[in-house]
Amino acid sequence: MARTFLLTACAAALAAVAFAVTPALRRHAPPAASSSTGAGSSSDSGGRAPLLDAKTAAPAPAFAAGNWINSEPLTLDSLRGRVVVVDFWTFACFNCRNTLPALERLNATYSAKGLTVVGVHTPELERERVFENVRREVASLGVGYPVLTDNDYATWNAYGVEAWPTVFILDRAGRVRYKHVGEGAYDEQERAVKALLAEDYKGDADKTQTNGATNTNTSGGVKMNEKAAESHEKIVKSDEEWRKELTPEQFHVMREKGTERAFTGAYYANHETGEYLCAACGYELFASGAKFDSGTGWPSFYEPAAADHVETVRDTSYGMVRTEVRCARCGAHLGHVFPDGPRPTGLRYCINSVSLKFVKKDQ
Ligand code: FE
Repeated sequence: MARTFLLTACAAALAAVAFAVTPALRRHAPPAASSSTGAGSSSDSGGRAPLLDAKTAAPAPAFAAGNWINSEPLTLDSLRGRVVVVDFWTFACFNCRNTLPALERLNATYSAKGLTVVGVHTPELERERVFENVRREVASLGVGYPVLTDNDYATWNAYGVEAWPTVFILDRAGRVRYKHVGEGAYDEQERAVKALLAEDYKGDADKTQTNGATNTNTSGGVKMNEKAAESHEKIVKSDEEWRKELTPEQFHVMREKGTERAFTGAYYANHETGEYLCAACGYELFASGAKFDSGTGWPSFYEPAAADHVETVRDTSYGMVRTEVRCARCGAHLGHVFPDGPRPTGLRYCINSVSLKFVKKDQ
């Protein structure tokens, strides 16, 4: 494919929807005519997202080798059980840059509910091939989700991509269920994500897969929905009030976003069965069933006790782009979440022991 052709494709604000693995490039695609389902529209005007039927959807190609930013190397096998947005982009493409805020919103809103966003950075220009340039741009653009470099176009070619940006959405079984070329259709993509998160998934990772507020995970043996319903009211106190209730270390970590030193907390090596509550307000945050040994020196969990018991906020402090985790009830800083955890979620909630209060479950 001629490079000049690709440059033209990038510069145009394309809006084509198609599901074939090797679609024909259209600069001005008709809104819905190119959807293989005939449902919905490529615009943001509402309605259902045009998802390809699960029975006929093709398995997504694997990610080819490359360098990963913001993550350990991910594979589709490791992401099985999660909905995956794959965004083909390159940092100097302004159409691509325009799509990044919407992708960040998807990541922030749905990552705890079962979504992983992966950016595949396929370069167009020579300077976009330089890893340090990509890493710097990822940080300066505030891209917090995993990014894979694709300098040899291996992943691009495997997906049959022909223009920047192109977004694919994979269901929890790893099938390509949605594709969009160009800017826009952000509401449609959110509807697609929500629809795919709500679909039943009967794979081997289905046992604890959750879907937001409908979470009925009982890995800690607790009736979490009932607890959430009766105690979800926000707690707002002044710093002076918190100082009276918390130890100096708790106040520093939970109200000033401090971090306890690794391997010094009470719970990183705790293997007992029970619940981990917010040390400030007692809200149920994590269950021992989702705890794993990360080797980091901080308590690590692959999911919260309920998706709406924690909040995530983009954190750009210390020159890094991370996702902060807070107690959803009192706003206390708990730690950060990273996309390099184990199955079934692929997430690692890295939490300060001092932000938690462990309550052992009676055997
Ligand atoms: Fe709290």
